[in-house]
Formats: sequence, structure tokens, C-alpha cells
Amino acid sequence: MSDSVGENTSCGYVAVIGAPNAGKSTLINAIIGAKISIVSPKVQTTRTRVMGIAMQGDCQIIFIDTPGIFQAGEKKKLERAMVAAAWEGTVDADAIILLVDASRGLSKDVRAIIEKLANNPTQKVALTLNKIDKMKPEALLKLAAEMNEIFDFEATFMISALKEKGFKELVAYAAKKMPAGPYMYPEDHITDMPMRLMAAELTREKLFLALRQELPYELTVETESWEEFADGSVKIDQTIFVAREGHKKIILGQGGAMIKKIGQQAREELEEIMEQRVHLKLFVKVRENWMDKPEHFTLWGLDNKA
Ligand code: GDP
Ligand code: MG
Repeated sequence: MSDSVGENTSCGYVAVIGAPNAGKSTLINAIIGAKISIVSPKVQTTRTRVMGIAMQGDCQIIFIDTPGIFQAGEKKKLERAMVAAAWEGTVDADAIILLVDASRGLSKDVRAIIEKLANNPTQKVALTLNKIDKMKPEALLKLAAEMNEIFDFEATFMISALKEKGFKELVAYAAKKMPAGPYMYPEDHITDMPMRLMAAELTREKLFLALRQELPYELTVETESWEEFADGSVKIDQTIFVAREGHKKIILGQGGAMIKKIGQQAREELEEIMEQRVHLKLFVKVRENWMDKPEHFTLWGLDNKA
């Protein structure tokens, strides 16, 4: 008997869906144990379908971190593409996890998602109530009961993605749902996100964290060049595209202080992740109405015809 991969292995996809800010990225990062998806206190920061890959014994679980599902504006192409990408992620999934910010109760967003899930009753869904660190057990149990009354969930989990509590049971559930078959990725892969994209996402995260309310999400970061040197260092040039001249000023800050701070934070984290020296150069450019121009977001693998 050979012990080649494929004999006892299983492998499949898990779609994590939920309203913006439910904690999807935090959960996936906690499960994978590395920073893959971008976590930010601001809503709608996840635009890519980043995958995190977890190994659980002989099982490979590929998590799809979807953009949050929300009521997209009629005229906003980017928003609609984001929501369409999120639903698309559930079609081929072997398991679906509906993640809910339990501290917010049964919100309008969550009700809308459940209504849509009910259209396809053959798909089994695991309800996962997150942020239990923020609430009392009685309120939590009441919400769990209430939600199970309006939808036939296959299982219910209660977790704190932030405090890393309770998600082992969730991973064990996901592992059981994965079909038998060979691994789709080498065992040591944690994400299939290209480094260039990951580096751009990191800078975007630092921008959001530094600017918070001051900046709308009409902003994108692109890695323009990536040059590896013989001494093991890498030079990365990135452009931050904004919609208005005023935004450019905010990002640059007084005498360039803001962009310097952001660049330094992004560089330090990149060095930590890549374990090599990084020279990071940031440019800021105004690109008017980029949100309505499909060619500017096909980069993220979103369907701009949605
Ligand atoms: P996403 O939009 O669903 O991907 O949500 P994020 O993972 O970006 O999280 C949104 C916000 O909720 C962040 O500020 C997180 O730190 C916070 N958060 C996520 N999980 C928990 C949790 O278990 N407890 C608490 N208190 N906050 C959490
Ligand atoms: Mg997210």
C-alpha cells in the first residue's frame, strides 16, 4: 500500500458569508493563524475573494472570504460586483457558514441574507454567532433560538473570532463536510493571493486604519512594480488612486507626514510577512470616477457585468 496523498484525504471549499463587519476576515485569519485577509473597523474593505487554506488532519479546507453582502446601491457598479461575487462564492461551496455579529441582533442585513438563502433550500448552512465576548449568554441563546426559527440551519456555533474562542468546533464541522479527494494546494500554502495583491491590500488597510472617517472607500491601491535584488531585498512601487484632489491632500498629510507614516507601517508589516527587507515607495494619483469604470476593478477578479 502506498501512502500517497489522495488515499484518505479530503478537500473542499467553505464560503463564509455575512453582512459587512460580521467578522469574516477576523475569523479566517484566526483559523489560518496568519494575516491573509484584511481586517479593518471600516465596512466594505474586503473586495477580493481571498482564500485561506487550513489543514485539519488529512483534510484541506479552503475558505473563501467574500465581500460582505449588503444592499448594493442601484447605480454603484462596484458595489453590485462585490455582492455578486459574494453570492457566487456559495454556489460551488461544500459548506456555507453564515457569520453574524450577534451583538447587533437580527439586523435587516441578516434577514435579507437569510431570505436569499431560503431560495435554495438544498444548500446546508451553519449559523455562526460571532462577537459573543460582547454579550450576555441569555441574549445569545435567545438570538440563536430566534434565528433557528426563521431558517433551518444545519448547525449553530457561538464564537469570538477576535478572542479566538469556539472556532475549533466550527473547523471540525467544516472538515466533516469536505468531500474525499486529493488536496488542491500544497500543504504549506496558506493563501493563493498573489504577493503583489497582498502588498496592495496591506497598504490599503493601513490607509483605512490611519484615516478612518476622513476617507470614503473610493480608493484603491495598485502594486506597479516589484523588483527583487540579489541582497535579498525587494523594491515595491505602489500607487494609491483616489477620486478627488482633496483626498490626495488628506493622504499626503502635512508636509507628507501622513503618507510617510502609512508607508512605514505597511513596509514594517510586509517585512514581517515576507521575511525580507522591503523598500516601499508610495505614489498618490487622482483618478476621477474610477468606481464607474469597469477596467479599473477587473483586477480584483470581480465580475463587472453583475
Ligand atoms: P468582515 O467585514 O466581516 O470581514 O469583518 P472584519 O473581520 O473586518 O471585522 C470587523 C470588526 O469587528 C473589526 O473591528 C474586528 O476587530 C471586529 N470583530 C471581529 N470579530 C470580533 C469578535 O469576536 N469580538 C469583537 N468584540 N469584535 C470582533
Ligand atoms: Mg472582511
